[in-house]
Amino acid sequence: MTERLYNFSAGPAVLPEAVLRKIRDDLLSLPGVGMSVMEISHRSDEYRAIQNAAAENLRTLLKISDSYRILFLQGGSRLQFSMIPMNLLRGTGRIANYILTGTWGQKAYQEAVKEGEVHACADCSQSGYSRLPAAGEIQLHDPVAYVHLTSNETIEGVQFKSEPAIGDATLVCDASSDFLCRPLPIERYGMIYACAQKNAGVAGVTVVIMHDDLVSRGQDDLPGYLNYRSHAENDSLFNTPPTFAVYVMKLVTDWLLGEVGGLEDIHQRNQAKSAMLYEAIDQSNGFYVGHAEPAARSIMNVTFRLNNDEQQAAFLEAARSRDLVNLLGHRSVRGIRASIYNAMPEQGVTALRDLMQDFRREHS
Ligand SMILES: *Cc1c(COP(=O)(O)O)cnc(C)c1O
Repeated sequence: MTERLYNFSAGPAVLPEAVLRKIRDDLLSLPGVGMSVMEISHRSDEYRAIQNAAAENLRTLLKISDSYRILFLQGGSRLQFSMIPMNLLRGTGRIANYILTGTWGQKAYQEAVKEGEVHACADCSQSGYSRLPAAGEIQLHDPVAYVHLTSNETIEGVQFKSEPAIGDATLVCDASSDFLCRPLPIERYGMIYACAQKNAGVAGVTVVIMHDDLVSRGQDDLPGYLNYRSHAENDSLFNTPPTFAVYVMKLVTDWLLGEVGGLEDIHQRNQAKSAMLYEAIDQSNGFYVGHAEPAARSIMNVTFRLNNDEQQAAFLEAARSRDLVNLLGHRSVRGIRASIYNAMPEQGVTALRDLMQDFRREHS
């Protein structure tokens, strides 16, 4: 394989090399099929086997019971921002409660407002989205349609360590940038959704894991595609699904189950990788300043800044010279963002940590 850089992009993002090799090897002809996965009908037995295997892998990895449906949809997480309130809020007379810990949650909130009554039950924007709500800070407005949270705010690098206390309200979670980074108590959720291009595959597919009770809440006058029931009743074959992206998710979940050993193992790896970078921040005497409060720090997106723009530009250049790329943070937070998803090898993180230490020595 040609030389690969260490890619810290927030998404689309790094894929496991073993998955890329497998895609390459089977690209022209899937073993036993004689055609590329991109060339076969979504209703063929061969494609259905791939989609079923992807769903089964997810069930095994996350211990998802039969009370939940797994749907493969298009439109990204952005479409979920609208589909969720269309199906679970519109016409119910209830209130959708949104926990705002970052930019993505805020965007989800803005879409929900178009569909009914919405309440920001915790709003961390005053802190520049650097923290999580304190215990007791979440104030739900009744009657609750659902509570929405973003488990990992990709732009700010703020991540929930566990589910916030919301009583028996239905929890809906945007897990786009930390899906499959750790085990989850699925039964605490009504719904979890994630676009694949951050931590689970390539752009094109969005996974929705939804409790049976929620699937048929949408009203009949919703456009067919926008009603979850259409997808649940047709095994995600209501229309042509993003077959190639589902295939890649099958390979990524194969990799997690096989080479990695499951979500507990990947969680340990992710904790160790992120700890290396946070340690470099904490031991820098203020040379690097972390964005997220320590208790809110993400194990997927590590955000920090240097003390001035010039130094930051020099840092990015030094990184590039060591084959470390896509470290510039989102324009709204600025600074540096190192996205270290499941597929980022430990060597990539070690190389970044070494750079942080060397650069500080040379510039302070
Ligand atoms: C990337 C991202 C989105 C948007 O996903 P699209 O697939 O581009 O619609 C939503 N939420 C979070 C947390 C994200 O990281």
